[in-house]
Amino acid sequence: MKLELDPTQAAFRDEVRVFIRDHLPDEIRQRLRRGHAPRKRDSVTWQRLLNTRGWAAPHWPTEYGGAGLDVARRLILVDELYRASAPQPIGFNVNMLGTVLLRYGTEAQKRFFLPKLANLDLWFCQGFSEPGSGSDLASLRTRAEREGEHYRVNGQKIWTTHAHQADWMFALVRTEQAARKQDGISFLLIDMKSPGITVRPIVSIDGQHHLNEVFLDDVRVPVENLVGEEGRGWDCAKYLLVSERVSVASVGQCWERLDYARELASRPRCGGTRLVDDAKFGGELAALGAEVRALELTAWRFLLDPDIGRTLPGFASVLKLKGSELIQEITALLARVSGLAGLERRASDGADALHADAATVSRYFFHRATSIYGGSSEVQKDILAKAILG
Ligand SMILES: Cc1cc2nc3c(=O)[nH]c(=O)nc-3n(C[C@H](O)[C@H](O)[C@H](O)COP(=O)(O)OP(=O)(O)OC[C@H]3O[C@@H](n4cnc5c(N)ncnc54)[C@H](O)[C@@H]3O)c2cc1C
Repeated sequence: MKLELDPTQAAFRDEVRVFIRDHLPDEIRQRLRRGHAPRKRDSVTWQRLLNTRGWAAPHWPTEYGGAGLDVARRLILVDELYRASAPQPIGFNVNMLGTVLLRYGTEAQKRFFLPKLANLDLWFCQGFSEPGSGSDLASLRTRAEREGEHYRVNGQKIWTTHAHQADWMFALVRTEQAARKQDGISFLLIDMKSPGITVRPIVSIDGQHHLNEVFLDDVRVPVENLVGEEGRGWDCAKYLLVSERVSVASVGQCWERLDYARELASRPRCGGTRLVDDAKFGGELAALGAEVRALELTAWRFLLDPDIGRTLPGFASVLKLKGSELIQEITALLARVSGLAGLERRASDGADALHADAATVSRYFFHRATSIYGGSSEVQKDILAKAILG
């Protein structure tokens, strides 16, 4: 398969590069380059700037505030953002909920929520996982009982990324006990300011607070916040999870981190030598680069062929699996480049206080989770085994 950009795609890529060069605040670029996750204000600032250009929701139709980009241009945009150390549009808003609303939402829901999702006026978190219901998501037990024009929701969510800074949550809840556990699940939009919601932090192994437990006690949710049909939320969840798996194979991020490894390894060490000149290290960089290129070609093949999902079921799992493995290997390489300096923390610990090497090691720890969230690697292998072997 020939994978060169045609002249119009190359012109689009150049347009994106110029936009990022002219608009991305240097402070944000430098933080992300050092390996920090974007802060809330970084994401809001940048997503709104992207939105002024119409690029905050690359694949949505223009009538709903998206860029209406074809798949190739969408890939180019995402890739260039990663390569330039720019934040991505928030996936929960744009790739997950936005995608679901476009397919299953009512016209009123689309008109109300989509512009706010694109402009990050509302930040959504994802309330799917529960204690005991992660890989086996359909076993979830959070209940929503219909009471007139409201649902009364009771239960617990866990590992909810950014729940502490989110305005709303899209959640899977059980509205009916059905014979098949995938049935009787509904997809609800819940205002995080509703009485009865408690958010408790979980600090992860990278020393940061991204994750939370969310407790829902008699939370009243208007019936108009149901997306799709009552009891058919599993359809929305499946549709969303494929999109999540594809977006996890972030090739541009792999290239950017490899480039950063090369930059850090170019610093002079004691005795004046540089790690980047070491033949073994160079070999490792080259081998990882070859793997990233293979993933890149595979991603393009998948995303540009509309029939491949049908002819090769499980293909999204290939991207999720391989993308997770590669970013883990690359961030492990970066942690080795930092060496002992990476274990040092400044006095006031916290994301902003980490120096470049410590941020690298913190990021290494963060990426151990890449093979867990969005469906663990073992589960992706199960899906592939079923797809290939039947
Ligand atoms: C950093 C991070 C962010 C997350 N963010 C969110 C979020 O925002 N919203 C949300 O809803 N969830 C989120 N999650 C939760 C995530 O989706 C779950 O952790 C994941 O689905 C795994 O579920 P679990 O943790 O319950 O592990 P389990 O499902 O209990 O799995 C435990 C182990 O058993 C293996 N295993 C399970 N089933 C099988 C099987 N059938 N075959 C082979 N092996 C199997 C798994 O691979 C894993 O190694 C996040 C998780 C992490 C780590």
